[in-house]
Amino acid sequence: MTDAFIGLGSNLGDSVTLLNEARAALTSLPQTRVTGVSPLYRSAPVGPQDQPDFFNAVVRIDTGLDAASLLVALQLIEQQAGRVRLRHWGERTLDLDILLYGNERIDLPNLQVPHPRLHQRAFVLKPLLDIAAEIALPDGTALAPYCATVEDQPICQYSDDRWSLIP
Ligand code: AMP
Repeated sequence: MTDAFIGLGSNLGDSVTLLNEARAALTSLPQTRVTGVSPLYRSAPVGPQDQPDFFNAVVRIDTGLDAASLLVALQLIEQQAGRVRLRHWGERTLDLDILLYGNERIDLPNLQVPHPRLHQRAFVLKPLLDIAAEIALPDGTALAPYCATVEDQPICQYSDDRWSLIP
């Protein structure tokens, strides 16, 4: 089993419902247990600014799926959410990223883990550190200190009765 972290994002449609459904779909993956759920965050878009704010969260899983199978499963969940993606770094109904997969480093054309921009995005770092304060990159670099480098990125916790922190 591998301890992995999945980044969830949405800024089209009913984002909170979409993120909730994605989280339920993660719970239903074979050989997989959800072990942690971050608070929801609302963040200003990176890239084109003429798009709605994003809603983000991070879910921690314990999975027997290998990383490639996990990616395929995440892409299926995105499609089942009726994934619409209008432009690069633009609005999307649902985006699921493998942030960390145990201590593995993966550099394939279709899969890079740790996610290459993980340490540069407040909307990933903050929810990730909420559920794993001591988390580090595979080379042992702690992620918490990177928070200071993303302080300029507009982001806030978003409270919604539909989002439970209980895995
Ligand atoms: P995006 O929807 O912009 O996040 O990009 C999706 C593409 O990123 C897909 O074609 C994936 O194959 C690729 N990709 C590379 N690394 C990852 C990762 N760690 N998690 C999810 N998708 C990834």
